[in-house]
Amino acid sequence: MTAVTAESARPPRQPARQPARPPARRPARPPRHLADLTPDERDRWAGELGLARMRTRQVARHYFARLEAGAQAMTDLPADGRDRLVGQLLPELLTEVAKRAADGGSTVKTLYRLFDSATLETVLMAYPGRVTLCVSSQAGCGMACPFCATGRMGLRRNLSAAEIVEQVRLGARAAAAGECGPNVPRRLANVVFMGMGEPLANYRAVVRAARAIAAAPPDGFGLSARHLTVSTCGLAPAIGRLAGEGLALRLAVSLHAPDDEARDRLVPINRRYGVRATVEAAWRYFQATGRRVSIEYALIRDINDQGWRASMLADLLSRHGTGWVHVNPIPLNPVPGSEWTASRAAVQAEFVRRLEDAGLSVTLRDTRGQEIDGACGQLAAREVGN
Ligand code: SF4
Repeated sequence: MTAVTAESARPPRQPARQPARPPARRPARPPRHLADLTPDERDRWAGELGLARMRTRQVARHYFARLEAGAQAMTDLPADGRDRLVGQLLPELLTEVAKRAADGGSTVKTLYRLFDSATLETVLMAYPGRVTLCVSSQAGCGMACPFCATGRMGLRRNLSAAEIVEQVRLGARAAAAGECGPNVPRRLANVVFMGMGEPLANYRAVVRAARAIAAAPPDGFGLSARHLTVSTCGLAPAIGRLAGEGLALRLAVSLHAPDDEARDRLVPINRRYGVRATVEAAWRYFQATGRRVSIEYALIRDINDQGWRASMLADLLSRHGTGWVHVNPIPLNPVPGSEWTASRAAVQAEFVRRLEDAGLSVTLRDTRGQEIDGACGQLAAREVGN
């Protein structure tokens, strides 16, 4: 899936320099949880535990359809042994450490601690008529993008499928409780894998979680896969694999530069999968799924926001026409202590104008939660000194 077209032929790329990581250690696994399993696997687990299948199905109905994980509310289970049963099937995975609201209460960022003291973040965001939850796929991230707070932490470990699913259950409960303020829908409409981590580097758990999020209750939350977005910094072979899952998730590719020189610096994995290979993988994803691909582009002052780069991006994307892609430039949400900051407003406008003049569909995104360490990984870095 990563073949480079003849017109882009060039000497073989150097392997990506391995980002700095903490010393190797064998990570302990989170406890097994109902949400780690497919419905068939839940039935088998019931057998292993000596339970009737209906017990796991009852608990799944509470968990997915009612967003409930507390034994006390599950009064249809026998009182005798109920706590032990629910504790077995739904061990506590996420403990809230901090919660911050911003943007007049329409953005709520939550930091959770996991069983091994690793941390992750979620962000609940209310927009007119819809609520979106941004979830994490890894504790930390090994991709080492230099403008990103999570990238500075390095990778702690992959999250389990249930640790991802549980973020969605808690986010959906928060939305249902009106945590994003009045006059906002109480039902979660979208889930985006744009929090901490590179989702396609934790491929199996992310796909498993996406299936559970999309499955109809009581097997899952019943949020259509069309409302799930997986964001990648460009793991081209995994994009090809995702296209074959039959899930039709939305795909967002964090491109951030149209040329290898700038992208090698901003997104180090580019040294392995260059700009052309990444865009080709995105194009093939569109061909396989029919889902228009989003191109994310953090506008960083004097680094990647030049007008000529906008024109170069337009040429690059429109090689396959303009209907397959949507471009989301977003002014950088700066990380404290970083030399990089957001582009000036006039430069942003010029960047967008050049893309639109090329016939591309473009939305200049707003940055959310700047007063609450809005960029991914910032809250974790501040709260727990990661
Ligand atoms: S921008 Fe995304 S892929 Fe890059 S280091 Fe941050 S979390 Fe990882």
